[in-house]
Amino acid sequence: MSNWKQEVQRIVQPAVARSQITDHVVIDRNILTQTGELVSRSFAERSVMIFADTAGYAACGLAVADSLNKAGFAVSSHIIPNSPLPQPHVELADTFVEILKRGDFIPISVGSGVMNDLVKYAAFEADRRYVAVATASSMDGYASAGAPLSKQGFKITIPTRAPKIIIADLDIISAAPPEMTGWGYGDLAGKFPAAGDWILADFVGVEPIDEVAWPLVQDNLKSWLVNPNGLANGDFNSISSLFTGLTVVGFAMEFHGTSRPASGAEHQIAHMWEMEGLSYHGRKVSHGACVSVGTVTSLALFDWLIEQDLSGLDAVAVSNKAPTIDAEFQTIDTLIRNTDISERAKLETRAKHIDPAEHRRRLQTIIVGWSSIRDKLEKHLIRSHEMAELLLEAGAPVAAENIGVTETHHRNTVFASRFIRRRYTVLDFLHEVGLLEAALGSIFPEQSNAVA
Ligand SMILES: [Zn+2]
Repeated sequence: MSNWKQEVQRIVQPAVARSQITDHVVIDRNILTQTGELVSRSFAERSVMIFADTAGYAACGLAVADSLNKAGFAVSSHIIPNSPLPQPHVELADTFVEILKRGDFIPISVGSGVMNDLVKYAAFEADRRYVAVATASSMDGYASAGAPLSKQGFKITIPTRAPKIIIADLDIISAAPPEMTGWGYGDLAGKFPAAGDWILADFVGVEPIDEVAWPLVQDNLKSWLVNPNGLANGDFNSISSLFTGLTVVGFAMEFHGTSRPASGAEHQIAHMWEMEGLSYHGRKVSHGACVSVGTVTSLALFDWLIEQDLSGLDAVAVSNKAPTIDAEFQTIDTLIRNTDISERAKLETRAKHIDPAEHRRRLQTIIVGWSSIRDKLEKHLIRSHEMAELLLEAGAPVAAENIGVTETHHRNTVFASRFIRRRYTVLDFLHEVGLLEAALGSIFPEQSNAVA
């Protein structure tokens, strides 16, 4: 048995068996001919609606339709243009909901990130289960329950339901544009700083590490990312490993109940750019590309943090200097001009704002436990420059300028991103020990005090 088949058996299938949501994940070569039979096994309905954009349909829509036809399904398709690229907006997904309500269709998404998220949301809203046929290893959303979509400009992960079946034909996926594979690699690489965030959240008593989701992702992460060169060379083991990693992350989120196993500060940084509608050379910068740069940034903050000695912190002095919630709100108003986004940021910030007593308790925990937690971070995390080398090999962007972001913009984004989600990350940790500005000053030396 080839290596990838063994890995799928060893890691993916036990996760599928544990899943309450997903019945089948098939990762293999030349498997689209099995689509009809797989769908027959899991669904009672006899008609399907294929959703794709023109590029996704060209990649494998006909093969999927053919297999479904042969299995006796009535096949309809809803194909939308891919120029301009479909946007992950609730407003577009709502048009899919209307189509689904016209019949007893099984929704089938043929595509990658955006198409999968749109169909996932639409299927959930129309109370249907759906099938995801993947055309690229470009993000981790195939097996996840959340649909990250923009609603009136604010990017939120809307709780929905993961697909009943995921079909990943490695021949199709390996033919995807190489940059898309780089995005998926960037999204998976983000699980390193996200793990650092979880270690810190666990350490200060905000959110304990979960014994199921953590090892599922973190025990395998290095092996999934070890061969970025193979991705560029079309090596099926590397491509399968990446897809396996991205899929397993979805299951980890299902088992944990939130996106914590998959998403930390690197995603908040990315979400800021996605909400701004960041584009470069006339094209929207993808989620994975934003996460890739966010990953290098977040790991640089961890590199700086690991160098510090926090065992000598003065808890009373640090907590006396902490901003009040009103001061935090003023900062949000200065940093985030869009009022819908700033109002939402205030809700998120209020949810994680702590009183002085809790602040001093956390600081005391940090003072006492610092050396052991620093060792744990150092042992688990990859250094920022090493990750940057891997990402470059995988074809993912690593520097903000590679996605059209200036250093000032980059620094301001990192500073503002702490406010947009209540999840505790390295940004909150640095803020609470009074060192966020110093850390930012270190990784953005030209920009220190650009934002106060
Ligand atoms: Zn992601």
